[in-house]
Formats: sequence, structure tokens, C-alpha cells
Amino acid sequence: MTESAPVYIVGGGWTGLSAAIELCRKKIPVTLIESGKQLGGKTRRVSFDGKPVDQSQIMLFGGYQNILRLFRTLKIQENQDYERVPFDLILRRKRKTKFRFRHFRLPAPYGIRAAMYLARGMPMQDKIRSLRLIDKIRRQQINLTEDISVAEFLMQQGQRDRVTRFFWRPLCRMFLHADVSHASAALFMEMVTWLFLADPDNSEVLLLHQDLSTTFSDRAMDYIEQKGGTIKLGHEVTALNISKKAVSGIQTDDAAFTASRVILAAAREATQRLLEPHRDLLNTTQCLQHLDYANFVTVYLQFPRETTLPTYFLHTLGTLGHCLIDKRMQHNPGMMAVTILEKPQVPLPEDEKIVEEICAQLSILFPHWKSSLSWQVVRAPEAVLSCTVDTGKALAAPSDGISGLWVAGDFVRAPMLPSLESAVYNGRNCARRIIEELSGQTGI
Ligand SMILES: Cc1cc2nc3c(=O)[nH]c(=O)nc-3n(C[C@H](O)[C@H](O)[C@H](O)COP(=O)(O)OP(=O)(O)OC[C@H]3O[C@@H](n4cnc5c(N)ncnc54)[C@H](O)[C@@H]3O)c2cc1C
Repeated sequence: MTESAPVYIVGGGWTGLSAAIELCRKKIPVTLIESGKQLGGKTRRVSFDGKPVDQSQIMLFGGYQNILRLFRTLKIQENQDYERVPFDLILRRKRKTKFRFRHFRLPAPYGIRAAMYLARGMPMQDKIRSLRLIDKIRRQQINLTEDISVAEFLMQQGQRDRVTRFFWRPLCRMFLHADVSHASAALFMEMVTWLFLADPDNSEVLLLHQDLSTTFSDRAMDYIEQKGGTIKLGHEVTALNISKKAVSGIQTDDAAFTASRVILAAAREATQRLLEPHRDLLNTTQCLQHLDYANFVTVYLQFPRETTLPTYFLHTLGTLGHCLIDKRMQHNPGMMAVTILEKPQVPLPEDEKIVEEICAQLSILFPHWKSSLSWQVVRAPEAVLSCTVDTGKALAAPSDGISGLWVAGDFVRAPMLPSLESAVYNGRNCARRIIEELSGQTGI
């Protein structure tokens, strides 16, 4: 196989890396072209106070089977590189914890039942109503004739304001990257099923001991290069050549390559730009236009070393920061990351104003904390796919009738919710299809 033309992979985020690793595993030559100076895409490393930290605060779950498979290939090991902790949702307002829900590792549906009955800060009536809804979803008793917003769905299902604000809204923000007012009810039911009604592993959180680049991208790069793959950093793919419904090549800012197999793993916007000139790919470009994205801002704050949260992360109510993460598990004691998720239409203030507001909120939540020593704001515009109403219909297909062209990313249909996990699944899936094609030709 080694003498065949390489498979070109455009983009070195987790999608592209997952495709490259799968192809390399089968000794198929690959050339991965990444426009940035480092791999990792949206999860790439940034530096705060001279320490490596993640551009994105990613919640990894124990049920992310495709990511865990990748980890095993790269020898990223539980306990050494990451640990599992139960999903623990803490909502805090002012000085008090208003709600705490800690999932139990029991077979479904007993884990969610035990967790909900023992949750603190929720009237029993609301707990019973939410468990009834989860049970209806489990028994597949809800048929949506058309997708509606989660807010409307929860109202129809008799969920009261408190359970929506304390439980459903943070879950929607975390998993659907959308507020209940515009999140998709169809995908909400998938979220509930995956998180609480499937394997108990699904509701465990994986906490990494180092930043995502050190844990994954650096090792992925070593693996691909050791297996003979080529990685070109700092080269942007500017055009895709297609003739007679087949890929014929790609162009970068400084070269042209003949190619018969290309995996586009360049995230939504760049994929759209590369596909737009081709009328045959109208279906895919139209799908991509209908997807909603949310802006993500992470504020890093360094407090004195002894500053800690009661758990690794918690949610806040009615504040600018939606989630607060203690970076001590990544050997950064006193460092906090505060995340803000907003629709692109919502303008966010200047960095200084955001930090001022967040520090004011933190001083109310944790009055005993000393002032922060330094800060950094990392903005990621159009960073995450928002699972809004009808997103399920707008997700693209991995191929659109062009021979040799594969499209991968979290915006491509997959058996799981759009996420880092679906990005990895889609990258691997494209690689698997190419492997099947090639094995049909050569018997590898
Ligand atoms: C702040 C933040 C928080 C998030 N939180 C979560 C979470 O909690 N859980 C979760 O599951 N997901 C989360 N996500 C989403 C997750 O990061 C994405 O699903 C994932 O990164 C998608 O990977 P990708 O490889 O498809 O795309 P990307 O990571 O965007 O990678 C695409 C790569 O292609 C490169 N590229 C683009 N155009 C070209 C070109 N023309 N030529 C060459 N290279 C090109 C880019 O430089 C980039 O490196 C979060 C994202 C952000 C930003």
C-alpha cells in the first residue's frame, strides 16, 4: 500500500487527526495540511502566565467511546493521563449552593432516579415530575411531529420553572450549546437518553491531568509521523479541484497537489468556503448555511495557590460566566477558567469589562477569595455548534456524490450529538470508508 498516492486531509483538529490516525494505523499514506502553526484546532494550546492551557474548556465524558478508542491507540491512559469522576452539577448563587445533583454509577434508570431523589435544592414534586419526563423518554412515549424549542417542550411536559432553571438549562448549555429558549427538543431527548438512560459510563466526566494538546495533539502528531504520515503546518488549503464529479487535486497558498482522495476536516466555515465554488456540492453547502453556532469566551484568572472550588467545576445562576472550572487537576493551583457561551448576535463587552464583571460576581459567590493576580480572555467566535430547533435536519452528509471527497466534522450527521465525540467519529468514519475502498482494490 505504501506506494499509493496519499490521502490528503485538510485540517489538523480532532476530526483530521482522528482520520489520519486511523489511516496510519492501516499503513495508508496520509498528508495532513493545517493552516495554523499547531495542531488541535479549537482545542489548541494557548499560554496564560507562561503556562500551557487549553483554548477551549472541553467536557469529556466516559461515554465518548470514539475518543477513548483514540486514547487507547495513542496509549493515553486512565489514572496516568486522566481520571473519571461522577457527573456533579452544582449551581451556586450568592454565597450558597442552590442546587446539587450528583449522578450515581448504577444501571439505567436507577442512577438518575437515585441522583434526582437525593439532589439538594429541588422540591420533591419537581423531582418526581422530572423523573416522569425522563421515564416517558425512556419508554419512547413522546412523538414530536415537528421539532420545537426545549422551553416549549418542557412546558408541554409540565416541567416547572425551578427544575428548568436549575437542571435542564445548565444541561442544555453544556451538551446542546444552546439556551432552552432555542435548543432543539428532538436533540434534548437524545441528550437525556445518552446521558442518563444508556451506559452508566456516559455520565462520568473525564478530567485530564494536562492540557488537551499535551494529552492528545502532541502524541497524535508523533504517532502519525512515526507511522510515515506527513504533517504540513502553516499551509492553508485555498481550493479544491473537482472534475467530472471526482476530486482531482487541492491547492495551498504555495503549491498544488494532485489528489484522488481528500478528507475535508476544516470546520464549518472553511469547508463551506472550499465547497461553494462547486455547483455539484450545493446540497452540502446549503446544509452548512442553516447551522447555528455560538461564541465561546474563556476567562482565565490566576488567584493565590490556595484558592479552590468545592468541586472541579460548577455552574452559576444569572451571571455572565456560565461555568467555573478549577484548573488545579492540571497542576495549576489557584487558576480558574470561567466560560461564557453566547449567540453571535449578543455583543460581548471589552475584555477589561468582562473580567471586571466576572470578578465582581466571584467576590459575591466566594467572599473569602483574595483578588485575582492576573487574567487573560480567550475569545472563540462561532466556536461551537448550537443544537437549535431543526439542527438535526441541517447536519451534512459525509459525501455528496463526488468521488474521492469526504466531509467530516461535528456538523456531519452521526449517531451521537454534535460534539468533539461526533467530530472524532466522523473523521474515523471517513477513514474507514477509504480503507474499505482501498481494501476492495488491493486486498489490504
Ligand atoms: C471554547 C470551546 C468549548 C468547547 N466545548 C466543548 C465541549 O465541552 N464538548 C464538546 O464535545 N465539544 C466542545 N467544543 C467543540 C469542539 O471543540 C469541536 O467539536 C471540535 O474541536 C471540532 O473539531 P474539528 O477538528 O472538526 O474542527 P476544528 O477544531 O475547528 O479544527 C479544524 C482545523 O482546520 C484548520 N483549517 C481550517 N481551514 C483550513 C484550510 N483552508 N486549510 C488548512 N487547514 C484549515 C483549522 O486551523 C483547524 O485547526 C468546544 C469548542 C470550543 C471552541
